[in-house]
Amino acid sequence: MPLVKATVIILRSRKWGDADRIVTCYADNLGKIRGIARGARRPKSRFGAGLEPFTVCRLDLFEKTGDSLFRISHVDVVTSFQLLREDLGLMAAAARMVNVVGAVTPDGDPDPLIFDTLEQGLASLPQSGDPVCTALLFQIKLLGLTGFRPQTDRCAVCGKTRMTGAPHFSPIAGGIVCLMCAAQQRTRCVVLSQGTLAFLHRAVRMDSRLITRLRAVGQVRNEVEEVIDKYVTVVAGRRLPPADFLAAEGSGKYGSPTVDAVGVKNERRQVKGMLSGEWRMEN
Ligand SMILES: [Zn+2]
Repeated sequence: MPLVKATVIILRSRKWGDADRIVTCYADNLGKIRGIARGARRPKSRFGAGLEPFTVCRLDLFEKTGDSLFRISHVDVVTSFQLLREDLGLMAAAARMVNVVGAVTPDGDPDPLIFDTLEQGLASLPQSGDPVCTALLFQIKLLGLTGFRPQTDRCAVCGKTRMTGAPHFSPIAGGIVCLMCAAQQRTRCVVLSQGTLAFLHRAVRMDSRLITRLRAVGQVRNEVEEVIDKYVTVVAGRRLPPADFLAAEGSGKYGSPTVDAVGVKNERRQVKGMLSGEWRMEN
């Protein structure tokens, strides 16, 4: 069994058997992998809290021939991102980021840019002032890195560049479509405002280090959220909990929220009163 060393970001961690833990993580040199940590849930486990979601850590892994599950023998925490677990708004946005990486990246196909973008995205959340928006922009960036960049400058079906009428976004086609192609789509297209199209166009071309500086509110925000959520659902093949699911009132779809997400509510108060449909780049 050869030893492999990897720096990873923990995407998911679940109980296994009586005392073990199975984690899904994204490794800079291995891509998305799964590993088992024997005895990780015992009181004085040598793994400590190193295998919690969002943690960046260095792992010693053993690979068994014919088995896709690595055996984790050692963990060194690089960054715990503890702040992300202390605020429900931040935690929900971070959870959306790692969930989407887990859902849209293939197993064992490393891309250091995806690793860096996720690490930067998680690191930027506490300062972003709008974690839901940061998570939204992160998803647009990630879709681009995984070959699913939303098409914003031509019809995603026929390639036509001159289009008339309101832009229609097809989650199945992965971008805007002309009216003729929109009429032939199997699922309903989302009708966008020109402001939303301009926002998407800007967001897909943005450097991932700047994702905390682009903001969307009002109509643009609602439309971008709807479009990205529907498109991610198509790419992932299933519906994921949204970035503000902990604050969603009365939504039993993803499990009931148990605590009031004060951060997210304050943030909504902040955007209230701003012009509907506005978006801006902060300096
Ligand atoms: Zn078309």
